[in-house]
Amino acid sequence: MNKINLNDMLTNYDKNDLRIATVCSHSSLQIFNGAKKEGFKTIGISVGEKKKFYDAFPRGKPDEFMIVDNYKDILKYTDELQEKNVIVIPHGSFVEYLGADKFATLKLPTFGNRNVLSWESDRNQERKWLEGAGLTMPKEIKDPKDIDKPVIVKYHGAKGGKGFFIAKTYDEFKKRIKRGKSYIIQEFVMGTRYYLHYFYSPIQNNAYKLTKGSLQLLSMDRRDETTIDEVQRLGSIAELEELGIHPTFVVTGNIPIVMRESLLPKVFKMGEDVVEKSIGLFGGIIGTFCLETVITENLEFKVFEISARIVAGTNPYISGSPYSELIQPDLSTGRRIAQEIKYAAKKNLLGEILS
Ligand code: AMP
Repeated sequence: MNKINLNDMLTNYDKNDLRIATVCSHSSLQIFNGAKKEGFKTIGISVGEKKKFYDAFPRGKPDEFMIVDNYKDILKYTDELQEKNVIVIPHGSFVEYLGADKFATLKLPTFGNRNVLSWESDRNQERKWLEGAGLTMPKEIKDPKDIDKPVIVKYHGAKGGKGFFIAKTYDEFKKRIKRGKSYIIQEFVMGTRYYLHYFYSPIQNNAYKLTKGSLQLLSMDRRDETTIDEVQRLGSIAELEELGIHPTFVVTGNIPIVMRESLLPKVFKMGEDVVEKSIGLFGGIIGTFCLETVITENLEFKVFEISARIVAGTNPYISGSPYSELIQPDLSTGRRIAQEIKYAAKKNLLGEILS
């Protein structure tokens, strides 16, 4: 996207004194902890006040806080942050708080390829990318009148599954749909959910080899979503719906998980295909990404979403996961990002992993 700007920004940077900054939320404890382990100084951007709870976690606390009145104000401080040789690690909340358009043009070297934004945030583009890569996505139902089995209705731009609902018939759909909001209808895939955390390095060839660079699997999780994941404590969903109580899909936390080993080749193949396709589409996804999947009883993966940066599902693994342990002890996703920046700085390849 802004390669020229990136080079301009990096020209004045002291590569021996890079600092890692992110917004104090989401996966920031892990990002700061991983950066510190790799010897970086860290800056936490926080609204209004320094968040007190970081004092309770000294190894996850940034070395310095930058307090802003509003996340959008980060734009006003880019010169100051550039003077501090800051590299930004974006996470979901960072992009959400700043706004995707402002994030896209933020004048700070940012880990990953920001060109991915338009492919990730528009569900049609996302489908073009993932299906174009050969992945199977849940079927989309264009006309609600065609609902003849359970579907999930998703509102555009809804965060954390807010407002999503399940319908089994057109009548149910009509009762629940909120007018004036754009939405999509997807087949509700029966199966078990796995959220797969990958790391793609375009500059290192020490893992699962791709055309350029290599791919790692660092961990996987299952999201804990309220109320759907525990609603059965009160009765079946059907019973509750009759009483007007509808399950919701609001993420409250993450649960560690491992997958039967025989499925790992498929996991790598999907990651490989997504990366290879992205290179042709927009110059390539870089670093951390997550495929959100359901595995059916036929052991097929259906991918319902991609997140193109660190996901909060990596947080259970601050001291490593059953997969990252096989790469290096004590390797979190946050630490892996810091390692990539350190390696790129040393080899003069920062332009390959930042945008
Ligand atoms: P999303 O915002 O697309 O990540 O969806 C929020 C949550 O809804 C997911 O974490 C899943 O629990 C659930 N979900 C999304 N799409 C599907 C689907 N097609 N089939 C079954 N569950 C889904």
